[in-house]
Amino acid sequence: MSKIATEFGITEALKALGIEEINNGTSTGADWFSNGEIIESYSPVDGQLIGKVKATTREDYEKVITTASAGFKEWRTMPAPQRGEIVRKFNDELRRLKEPLGKLVSYEMGKSYQEGLGEVQEMIDICDFAVGLSRQLHGLTMHSERPGHRMYEQYHPLGVVGIISAFNFPVAVWSWNTALAWVCGDACVWKGSEKTPLTAVACQNIAARVFEENNVPAGISCLITGDYTVGEFMTKDERVPLISATGSTRMGKIVAKEVAGRLGKTLLELGGNNAIIVTPDANIKNTVIGAVFGAVGTCGQRCTSTRRLIVHEDVYDKVKTAMVDAYKQLRIGNPLDQNNHVGPLIDKDAVKNYQQALEKVVAEGGNILVEGGVLEGEGYESGCYVKPAIAEAKNEFEIVQHETFAPVLYLLKYSGSVENAIEVQNGVRQGLSSAIMTNNLREAELFLSTQGSDCGIANVNIGTSGAEIGGAFGGEKETGGGRESGSDAWKVYMRRQTNTINYTTELPLAQGIKFDL
Ligand code: NAD
Repeated sequence: MSKIATEFGITEALKALGIEEINNGTSTGADWFSNGEIIESYSPVDGQLIGKVKATTREDYEKVITTASAGFKEWRTMPAPQRGEIVRKFNDELRRLKEPLGKLVSYEMGKSYQEGLGEVQEMIDICDFAVGLSRQLHGLTMHSERPGHRMYEQYHPLGVVGIISAFNFPVAVWSWNTALAWVCGDACVWKGSEKTPLTAVACQNIAARVFEENNVPAGISCLITGDYTVGEFMTKDERVPLISATGSTRMGKIVAKEVAGRLGKTLLELGGNNAIIVTPDANIKNTVIGAVFGAVGTCGQRCTSTRRLIVHEDVYDKVKTAMVDAYKQLRIGNPLDQNNHVGPLIDKDAVKNYQQALEKVVAEGGNILVEGGVLEGEGYESGCYVKPAIAEAKNEFEIVQHETFAPVLYLLKYSGSVENAIEVQNGVRQGLSSAIMTNNLREAELFLSTQGSDCGIANVNIGTSGAEIGGAFGGEKETGGGRESGSDAWKVYMRRQTNTINYTTELPLAQGIKFDL
């Protein structure tokens, strides 16, 4: 174990979470096995090997899907509030293991320890939500047009839900899906990111233990491990009626096509290109706090990270100076150390993408305001630490239209009315998160109106980054159109059925049709 791992208690965290030097990456809940190649997990924090996980083979997958399909048949007959009670017990364990899990998220993914804990808190919150939901999976009743008839709709479990997740939220996205899908009566098979395999094993360890202790049938929580080829086992599999996939738009387009080809359902949570509009009526201090956190938090690796700041010409220079000053105060380094604001990028490929984005913005005519660069020397041995950068740019630049998953913020100037800023905000292919900073009611309401933001999330006087579990989360256009988490997002994990019951001695037909025999 490295110096950092020892100093910040990673060894103890791994032990508490049941992580070994070599772990099986396939689990049905009851059994752990794996016959695939070994995936090594290196920490972007210090470049050290944390542990190894064996990938899932095609044969391993067959065993998983057979067990999940059989388990589902039993699980769906358990009353939903009883399934909610199992989720409550799972949540008790999450609360108990919040610190070690938050630490492992931080060490394996590179986000700050505070954000790692925040991610586990999101898991806890969605489980609480799901427990209440287990008594509220209600449908509507309607008046039948036929006398002596009753009509209503109800929701039934869907079957086996396949979950594919990204590296940047290595645990929360799994729980957003599973907590709801479990109370809905589904079995879940999860393929986490190949970049964060140990956090996935840690989560599955918790679920498997709780489920076994409570006699939940095997297969209700399953884990498979590997790269996109393992994900494809599920996307091509007719036994998996719903694929919930979180990741890049590139991945989403492939998955959507594959699953649509077999008329399966998808829930897609893909890339964003999020902007904050700053009007002349904005509170500049709050704008800077929201924009800096949004742009550099998680080292710019959130789907909701702020990538574009669209500032009115009247306050442009003021905002520009305040942002440059704020960036001077950023401390970059070990994310487990709470004195630092910015941790590393996930790996060296991400560093390369970051460098290329900065080269491209200059080549397209942009002006670098806050210089980027890769950090070297003591504390930066992993080669994944970069300086957050700001560039003055234009919305039509090819690179600005593109989601670079790194701390690069583009400053864009607008003039005239807020409608012009909204046009710039909407003028990208992605549609996840958006925000306006203004104390002008007309501007705020216009931003939220039908002529306003075209994103799934639109905020007033808070930034683009982060979301509460109570609302439905997701975005439009190339962000994929899926909704997860709160509100009525649960409906995607169930199938809807309309029922008509005739309690008369006759058989009247609908629309007054007569069929006399
Ligand atoms: P990625 O697309 O490289 O990988 C995501 C997951 O998809 C991984 O588990 C990967 O193995 C799998 N995958 C890739 N190709 C596949 C295929 N053809 N078939 C099946 N599975 C496949 O994304 P990443 O680099 O891990 O994450 C960053 C991206 O995720 C960013 O674009 C970010 O905006 C997005 N993201 C979106 C949300 C959201 O809620 N909208 C949340 C988190 C991350």
